[in-house]
Amino acid sequence: MSENLDGPENHDPNLPLYIGTRTFLTRRDLVLSFYTTKCQFQCTYCALPTRSATFEVTAEQINRQIDHVFTEKADQLGRYRQLSFGNEGSALDPRRFHRESVDHLLHRARDMENLEILSIETRPEYVKRDYLEHIAKTTHAPRLDVTVGFETQDDFIRQTVLKKKISRRVMEDRVALLGALGVKLTSYVLVKPAPRMSDEHGVREAVATMEYLKEICDRYGTELTIYLTPTYIAEGSSLQQTTEPGDWTPPTIQSVFEVVLAGHGMGLPVYTGLWSEELADESTDFRGREGYDPELRMAMVRFNRDQDVAHLLPFVNRPLALAG
Ligand code: SF4
Repeated sequence: MSENLDGPENHDPNLPLYIGTRTFLTRRDLVLSFYTTKCQFQCTYCALPTRSATFEVTAEQINRQIDHVFTEKADQLGRYRQLSFGNEGSALDPRRFHRESVDHLLHRARDMENLEILSIETRPEYVKRDYLEHIAKTTHAPRLDVTVGFETQDDFIRQTVLKKKISRRVMEDRVALLGALGVKLTSYVLVKPAPRMSDEHGVREAVATMEYLKEICDRYGTELTIYLTPTYIAEGSSLQQTTEPGDWTPPTIQSVFEVVLAGHGMGLPVYTGLWSEELADESTDFRGREGYDPELRMAMVRFNRDQDVAHLLPFVNRPLALAG
């Protein structure tokens, strides 16, 4: 899926980091990651800022990245019903993703005549009423989605282990704002987010996080989608450098499957990230676990596309003898 992916020093600031496509919950989705000044947060599990610039990337350069995408995809724009964009950080952070570049993207995206959802990846603190109202007025997309990484309802894991610096108070405040503005929320949820966690505990924790997010979204009338991320040790992340071998084992594919079923049972759309953004190898994600079942992974990939539970049913209650 990746079309442009270089180290930060070699990357041309006139080209985006990533142009990909996927079918996201029935919609063909054009997924873009732009090359901007790197995210200033240092969440311990995340190596995404290592792809970004250590210098100022100007609005003109970001606009050229946008023009590159729309030139390259010119004959396919009518295919997409969703446009998802980010910058390996927060696309609503105006110091990194300049507002005029967001406007430029929204204007270029007018050529996507079948666009239904514009999805923006950001940290919650950049979700501001005036900016979202401006985006809603400028885009022709009928629905907006904001995608954030709340990751886990466990405050100790989120704030101390992962160093997310996202409080429940901020999250709930932004969920209320999204509900008031009629903007959808997609939240990343990590499966097995802490070292020395058993697979069973990882499932319980992810289910508790989905329940918490559903409860606050229901309270404020905010439409919620869950994006599950099976935790992996990203190369270049602080976790990779600070944990001892064996401290951190990725979840089994079977335990991720249990979380998908639980989310579906709660009535939530659930999409699962079944790859590692090229920042892990087989030994550091679920593919390296004993009992890894590639057919189960494929069933979950199909479920990502259309949310048809029929893909999952043949795997329900299969013996998990090796899932340990
Ligand atoms: S998780 Fe998000 S906020 Fe944290 S370091 Fe990575 S890109 Fe930045």
